[in-house]
Amino acid sequence: MRIREFVPLSNYTSYGIGGPARYFCQPTNPAEVKTALSFAREKNIPYYVLGKGTNVLISDAGLAGMVIHLGKDFSRLTIESHRVIAESGLALNRLIHTLAEQHLGGFEVLAGIPGSIAGAVVMNAGAYRVFIGDYIEAVEVITPAGQFKTMANTQLGFAYRTSIFQTRPFHKYIILRTHLGVLPRNENDIKNAIGLSLEKRRQHPQLPSCGSTFKNPPGIPAGKLIDEMGLKGIRRGRAQIAPQHGNFIVNLGGATAQDIYNLIRFVQAEIKEERGITLQTEVKLWGEFKNPPA
Ligand SMILES: Cc1cc2nc3c(=O)[nH]c(=O)nc-3n(C[C@H](O)[C@H](O)[C@H](O)COP(=O)(O)OP(=O)(O)OC[C@H]3O[C@@H](n4cnc5c(N)ncnc54)[C@H](O)[C@@H]3O)c2cc1C
Repeated sequence: MRIREFVPLSNYTSYGIGGPARYFCQPTNPAEVKTALSFAREKNIPYYVLGKGTNVLISDAGLAGMVIHLGKDFSRLTIESHRVIAESGLALNRLIHTLAEQHLGGFEVLAGIPGSIAGAVVMNAGAYRVFIGDYIEAVEVITPAGQFKTMANTQLGFAYRTSIFQTRPFHKYIILRTHLGVLPRNENDIKNAIGLSLEKRRQHPQLPSCGSTFKNPPGIPAGKLIDEMGLKGIRRGRAQIAPQHGNFIVNLGGATAQDIYNLIRFVQAEIKEERGITLQTEVKLWGEFKNPPA
């Protein structure tokens, strides 16, 4: 496996933003993931696991550690009866469409979410009250020390947009393969559900984004709060709160990570001051950012 240096991460994120990774590798099998972990341990540097980069904002200065990218060379899929095993880099969309061809489904309304299956597990990705966590039977992981383990659904702490992989020490575990339980479905029903979801998503902002920037606080969608505060359309540099959807911050073309970050902090400060609500980001922030000017 080749370990590359100073690789621009903007090519690997949906924002098209992100400075260079000091080290970058794309393992094709679990043994190579283990090699990458050993490399990071020997150099005593942090590591970051990147899927399709649709939920991360990476700083303009990049990352001093190692990025382990599980992509298309780590995306094999096996389907045996109603049991499915997907490698981490497999696109959630690809999974949904491949299952549909075999008249299998359950979570087809998640069609259009642009991430990988592992990213979906970590985030417990969901839409229209359907959550991927409800279909996960187990995940195979590698620990930071290089041990292989299988963790059952009950150990994974799924809740709204979160899983155990967002808490210490599990945030350093790397998901290798995901076992899913799926249901037999009528082909037309699946196709209709996929079509409806994709249609709804066509109403969303189409410029580069990470989807929803903030988690919904209890009782009110974050987008509605932002809309009620009259913040839609506001810009910082080349980043904008989407005029169509308050919870999307879009890259108008040429935005820096700092531009997006400045908008995030601005929205949080406004909502805190006016409504007393602390908005938490759904998007993950990697690397260093400067505090925006007051
Ligand atoms: C236009 C758009 C629409 C979206 N709509 C939705 C939506 O409706 N619902 C929704 O829930 N999300 C939505 N998202 C957000 C995003 O697509 C999901 O969170 C997705 O599941 C992230 O997957 P990813 O592969 O891109 O993860 P990444 O962004 O690459 O990573 C996300 C997190 O997962 C971790 N991770 C990734 N792979 C692994 C692994 N193998 N092992 C351990 N950790 C790993 C990363 O370290 C990071 O912490 C949207 C995004 C966009 C751009």
